[in-house]
Order: sequence, then C-alpha cells, then structure tokens
Amino acid sequence: MLDKIKNEIVKAFLFDGDFIYAEPFGCGHINATYAVYFRRETKPPVRYILQAVNTTIFTDPQGLMENIQGVTSHLRKKIQEQGGDPQRETLTLVPTRDGKLLYEDSDGGFWRSYLFIENAACHQSVNRPVLFTNAAKAFGHFQKLLADYPADTLHETIADFHNTVNRYELFEKAVAEDKAGRAASVEKEIRFFLDRKADGAVVVDAIKEGRLPLRVTHNDTKLNNIMMDNDTDEGICVIDLDTVMPGSVLYDFGDSIRFGASTADEDEQNLSLVSMDLGLFEAYTAGFLSEAGASLTDEEIRLLPFSAKLLTLECGMRFLTDYLNGDTYFRIHREHHNLDRCRTQITLVADMERKMEEMKKIVAKYVNRT
Ligand code: ADP
Ligand code: MG
Ligand code: MG
Repeated sequence: MLDKIKNEIVKAFLFDGDFIYAEPFGCGHINATYAVYFRRETKPPVRYILQAVNTTIFTDPQGLMENIQGVTSHLRKKIQEQGGDPQRETLTLVPTRDGKLLYEDSDGGFWRSYLFIENAACHQSVNRPVLFTNAAKAFGHFQKLLADYPADTLHETIADFHNTVNRYELFEKAVAEDKAGRAASVEKEIRFFLDRKADGAVVVDAIKEGRLPLRVTHNDTKLNNIMMDNDTDEGICVIDLDTVMPGSVLYDFGDSIRFGASTADEDEQNLSLVSMDLGLFEAYTAGFLSEAGASLTDEEIRLLPFSAKLLTLECGMRFLTDYLNGDTYFRIHREHHNLDRCRTQITLVADMERKMEEMKKIVAKYVNRT
C-alpha cells in the first residue's frame, strides 16, 4: 500500500511540497490511516493525514463526506467567530487536485485527507479522571457549537444505528431462529433484555413525537477520538466524524458513560470487577454539562442518567444477538466472547439501575439553569 500511496494517491491531492515518505499512523480500527510527509523549499516540512475510508462499513462514502464537510464548515465558522484556531480545533479537509473531497483510486478504494493536528495526541485509556472530564468538555463543546445545525440534512451513514426498537426486533428474531442452538443456555440473559423492552422505545418514541430534538450526534465518542493538547491535556479537537448522523444527544452521552465509566474491560470474565464508577460518571457529567448544558432541553437533561442505561442495554443486547446468530458481526477472540461481553453489559445495567437516584443527583448538581 505504501508504494501505491507514493505512486498514485498522494499525487491526487493538493499537498504542499515534495513527497518524502508515508507511514501507517495512529490506532484507529476502522479506516486505514497514514501520515504523509512533504519537504518544502522555504518553509518547514509538513505532514498530512491520509485515510482510506472503510467502505465495507460505510457503503455511501460520498454521503459520509457531505456530512463531514457540512459539520466541519459549520464548526469552522463558529470557531472563527469566537477567535479560535479552526485549523486546530476542527478537522480541515484537503481537497484533491480536481477540487473533490474524495479520491477514488485505480482499485476502487476511496481516500481523503486532513490537515495534521500537531502537538496533540489521542489517548487510548482514561488513566487519569481529568482526561475523562476533558473528553466530556470536548464532546460537550462539539454539541454546543452544532446545536443550531440542521441535523435532518445529514445522511444516516449507518441506518438505524441507535434505533433500539429495531434492535429489539432483531434480538427477538435471533432468539426465535436460534441459529447457533444457544438460546436454551442463555435463558437468563434473554429474559433480562425482554424484561426491559419498554426502555428501548423511550428515546425513539420521544424523537418521533417531537419531545426530544434531533441533533448532530457523533456516535463514536471514545477517548481516542479526541485530540488532546500535549502540553495542557485539554481536548482541542473532536475527530473521527464518519458516524456523524442525526440522532439524540443522549446517544453520545449514554455511550460515553457505558464504556468510559465502567470499572472493567468490556469483555471482563470476572463480573465482580464490573461496575459503573459514580466518580467517573460525575467527572464526565461535570465536563459535558459545563459546555453543552445551556443548549440542552429539560427533557434531554432529565434523561441523561437513563441514557447511560439505555446505551448499555442496547450494546449488551447486540452482543447477545450476535451470540445467538453464531458470532457473525463482532470479531471474537475466544469461544463465548460475545456472551462474556453481553454479561458485562448486563452487570453494568443492573448496577446503573441501583445507582439511578445518585446519578440523577449528580446531574442536578451540574445543571445550571438561571
Ligand atoms: P478510525 O475510524 O479508524 O478510528 P480516525 O479518524 O479516528 O479513524 O483516525 C485514526 C487515528 O489517526 C486517530 O486516533 C488519530 O491518532 C489519528 N488522526 C486522525 N486524524 C488526525 C488529524 N487530523 N491529525 C492528527 N492525527 C489524526
Ligand atoms: Mg477513531
Ligand atoms: Mg471511526
């Protein structure tokens, strides 16, 4: 691939200078990401991010790029108005030489490029709570700047991504078909999700009935999708905008808590290690509301604690659905891996149900309604 990048791909983009070399870059699991380096005559060398879009997952790369272009243009305008540095605080696409956002290579692969955000890094894990708060601030800020974006103009890059009503249908179908002959062995787990079926409709119905606003959602609010300043650890730029879609702010908040506030890995087998850490919940809530609080509706705020449970329920149910279907969607590394994952999510949901009142108190503490 490095030869192809050198001989074909880099020539298609409006890069400044003479190509020096390309190398695989970062720890993303979805796209193939490279850094490409250029020498310039009077200026210091420069590097860019070059990515091959994963078209197995994203079947409409043009629609996806329209989303990214729309959202980053809006962010750029806002950041400029507030006197910030748009080239550092949002992604900037580098166009191709013929003015397009994507280059289709000779094998049908789709490539795009971004300016490289220097002096910043993506952290893989929350080894310090301050990183979690800073991540929350960055996602909250992203939400705040996009609060007036017409979310209904965005393409749905993965259909029904957080449609929990639809996810329940797929789950019940998997139980009924029992393709892998495993349903009898996981009756308790199946029951856990069926008992909470009404929860699955709460947000979907509220959006449909206009009780919750449709917003720009990121849908991959992991710590490693924020560039953090090397000197200050502040979250400066939200990246990885492939899954930007119309949805509820609750999806992003809930999912951040689901994986970020858990005391154990998603596939931990010793369930006594798995719980939702209220300290981390508070760290995230404080950061998120400090930025986005004023732009959220009362109903969104009311449902924040519930959203953590909802997104965990959804995720656990997806793992169980895949287990029942014979492990065809999530990559597994051991037998019953999807069942282990499902059980950590069930444990988290149960723990969140126990802690729901405390979560509500924490949200109330950081809501600043004047
Ligand atoms: P994936 O969907 O595969 O996770 P990302 O868009 O998150 O792809 O990119 C993968 C990694 O590349 C990021 O975690 C980050 O380390 C790095 N990266 C992406 N965009 C930039 C950028 N504009 N500047 C610097 N590093 C970047
Ligand atoms: Mg990423
Ligand atoms: Mg991604």
